[in-house]
Amino acid sequence: MATTIISVKNLVKNYGNFQAVKGISFEVQEGEIFGLLGPNGAGKSTTLEIIETLRPKTSGDVIVDGLSLDKQPNEIKKIIGVQLQTSGYYPGLNLLQLIELFCGLYNREVNPMELLEMVNLKDKAKAKVKELSGGQKQRFSVATTLINQPRIIFLDEPTTGLDPQARRSLWELVKSIRERGTTVIITTHYMDEAEYLCDRVAIIDSGNIVAMDSPDKLIDNLVASGFERPKEMKLANLEDVFIKLTGHSLREG
Ligand code: ADP
Ligand code: MG
Repeated sequence: MATTIISVKNLVKNYGNFQAVKGISFEVQEGEIFGLLGPNGAGKSTTLEIIETLRPKTSGDVIVDGLSLDKQPNEIKKIIGVQLQTSGYYPGLNLLQLIELFCGLYNREVNPMELLEMVNLKDKAKAKVKELSGGQKQRFSVATTLINQPRIIFLDEPTTGLDPQARRSLWELVKSIRERGTTVIITTHYMDEAEYLCDRVAIIDSGNIVAMDSPDKLIDNLVASGFERPKEMKLANLEDVFIKLTGHSLREG
């Protein structure tokens, strides 16, 4: 039986006169990868940051693992992992030192090399963040979300701006984190990413959820409604050609 780990009811966020989130409701099940899929400005980050306790809501109810956002925000902080922008890390420290710093802040014992190995950055342990590629930076910032051994991690557009190899490498990392039992909530505007990665997605547009289901179900429903693609699609696309020719394990693997 699936257990609900996040419950959002009638969530509203106003910025002045502008309503960015218009009374949305959804539930995330324990152990799933749940996606908020929508274009820029849809309200994805706002929604995520409210659940993360980092942004005040206008109205609505949010429960995270049985904890009330209004009454127990500090308890929620202890069981979630939030991805920060890598630009915010102390520039003078290397990856190993940054992880040790976080361990101290969270008062957790974590083996930094094990963590770096998990995100495939063991050979970069002595490197500074600014010396990493875009994909490596993202993998490192995902690693830092795991230091407090959270029940749930939040990833806000973790693959935006990455090349195809780096994206696929990050997808595999997210899947491996879920395999270990951590619930993942991720935002994206990439359809292929949501289709590959997410067990369920909420499609969000202008502050409203317009559909919510597994990617397969959403596609099946569309087809059942009589939808047909205007023309026969090719069996591969240019990205597949690129990956095949350059090898996705070479640079980011
Ligand atoms: P997304 O992450 O889906 O791109 P956001 O949640 O960042 O969307 O933004 C949703 C809407 O709210 C956008 O129209 C954005 O311009 C607006 N918005 C976001 N943050 C603020 C803010 N601090 N003040 C005013 N408007 C904001
Ligand atoms: Mg955003």
